[in-house]
Order: sequence, then structure tokens, then C-alpha cells
Amino acid sequence: MSLLVVGSVAYDSVTTAAGSRTDSLGGSALYFSASASYFTNVSLVAVVGEDFSEADRKTLSTREVDISGLETAKGETFRWEGIYNTKNLNSRETIETQLNVFANFSPSLAKNNISHPCLFLANIDPVLQHEVLTQMNPKPRIVALDTMDYWINDHKDNLSKTIENVDVLFMDETEIKSFTSKPNIFSAAQAVRDMGPRLVLVKRGEYGAVMFNEGDVFSVPAFPVEDVIDPTGAGDSFAGGFMGYLSNMNDFSPETLRRAAVIASVMGSFTVEGFSTDRVGKLTRLEIEDRFRGIAGMTYFKPLENQEELFSKTN
Ligand code: AMP
Repeated sequence: MSLLVVGSVAYDSVTTAAGSRTDSLGGSALYFSASASYFTNVSLVAVVGEDFSEADRKTLSTREVDISGLETAKGETFRWEGIYNTKNLNSRETIETQLNVFANFSPSLAKNNISHPCLFLANIDPVLQHEVLTQMNPKPRIVALDTMDYWINDHKDNLSKTIENVDVLFMDETEIKSFTSKPNIFSAAQAVRDMGPRLVLVKRGEYGAVMFNEGDVFSVPAFPVEDVIDPTGAGDSFAGGFMGYLSNMNDFSPETLRRAAVIASVMGSFTVEGFSTDRVGKLTRLEIEDRFRGIAGMTYFKPLENQEELFSKTN
């Protein structure tokens, strides 16, 4: 099944313990498509400004990502600046968000983009996410959404309306607690599931992620990475691995969903090993498979045999 992503394409200025980069190619749709394109055919809808370079356009379209839905508008490309806490890479501060061309963007899907069976509404204004969703015809088989604190804090009503219409929600731990005003991820995920989405993935940075699906709770660790260069985009690449694999499999069984969550974690782990898509954009299949096996090994344990008991000591 083909996969459509609508989200941001950005110039990011990022400072981490490893250094800093100014105006490097970023955005939720970039990271998502870079990751998903290893598994399926991806089409991208976004807007950039007249300052967007030809070289960056080429990077966006690597591995045959269809960028015919990338609009160029008058003005400057979206810009985001963030600084990571040098002692805790799970924590970052947004210094500046310049919506620029996104401020007046009204996505109008071309014919070739309205009928993808899988849709990912990456982090952008929830009103734009909703506009894209309503243009899809027929309704996609699966619709997923990601967002961030910027939209949760100041656009909560619009965000809630969009979330009610999606099947899968990605949020990080701090975001889902703040969005639902719940004190832990279990009650927060349930509150979101009560709004509409049947599947909720809570991202927890270096502690991995937890997936909530009906009665099924699945916890996946992060693949251990010692040299984290830049965590930006890890969440979008996580979602890209998840949705890319699902759209390739065309199957939403609990086993496939669990595998998709492991692939998501693998793809997030590559993104943090470089600025922009330096690392996640240049992977071999073998590298992806190795980390998939690595996580399988990390999480395996021998279940109890039929009559075996946990307590051999008799009281
Ligand atoms: P992540 O680290 O997965 O949360 O994604 C970071 C990416 O999201 C960066 O490349 C930013 O350009 C992009 N981004 C940051 N703020 C926003 C926003 N308010 N709307 C859309 N995209 C954003």
C-alpha cells in the first residue's frame, strides 16, 4: 500500500552536546519520509519557500520519495531552532519557531495524492492536518497523526478535533501527559483511546516506547546508542519506520503491529546518530536488519513452561 505524508519541511538550527548546525534540512515530513522510504512508496505534501535549495530538494526525493506535492510559495521556508539539555538528551527547549510559508499554506491535494490507503499527518498545524484528511477519497485504510508541544499548548481544541478522526496517535511521554492532564502514560493513553484512536504509541526517548492496542500493551526498548549526536527527528523517523512497515505489509494484526513498533525503534536509533538525515538517510538493509535482530535479542526471555512455577520454595 502506498503512503502519503503531510508535514513540515524546514531549515533547523540545532545545538546539542556534540555541536551545532544552522539551517540544516529538517522538518517532520523529511524525517518521516527518509525513514519510511526503506519499506514502501512514499509521497510527500508540504510547502517550502523560495529560499529552498535544489540540493535539499534532491535530498528530499532520495529513494524515490514522490515530491510532486511539494509546493514552493512566496516567502521563506519554515524555520525551527532548538537546544538540547547537555545532561539529558531527552529534554530540549524550542528557542524559535518561524512558520513563514506555513502561515498561509492551504494544502490542496492533486489527483495522484487523494487515494493513498495510508496517511500520516506529521507534525504541523492540526487545521492543515484536518484539511488533508477531509480531501482523501476514499477514506484511507489507516490514518496516523503526530504532533508536538507547540500545537498541544496553544491549539488544543483544533488538535483534539483532528485526533478524534485518526486511527493511530504518536506522542511523547511529556506531550501525552500534558495533552490529557493525566499523571501516567497508561491513564493518558486510555484517555486518548476514548477520544477515537484505537492505537496509541507513547515515545520515551532513550527508554523506548510503549504501544497501546485494545487490551494489548507492548513495550519496545530503544536500541542502545552511546554516541547520540542529535535527537531531532527521532520521533518522526520512529513513525516513518512504523507506518512504512505497516503499509508494506498491508496487515494490522497484533504481531505485525509489534514488529512495526520494533522497526520504529530501530529507525529512531539511526536518526540520533547524526545531524539532519546524515545517518538515517544512508542506511543499508543489513544495518536495519542487524538492529531489528538486536532488539529481538534484548527483549527475549524464556516464558514459564506449562507446570513450571516461579516459586520453587514451598511454604
Ligand atoms: P522531533 O524531534 O521528532 O520532534 O521533530 C523535530 C522536527 O519537527 C524538526 O525538524 C522541526 O523542523 C520540526 N518542527 C518543530 N516545530 C514544529 C512545528 N511547530 N510544526 C511543524 N514542525 C515542527
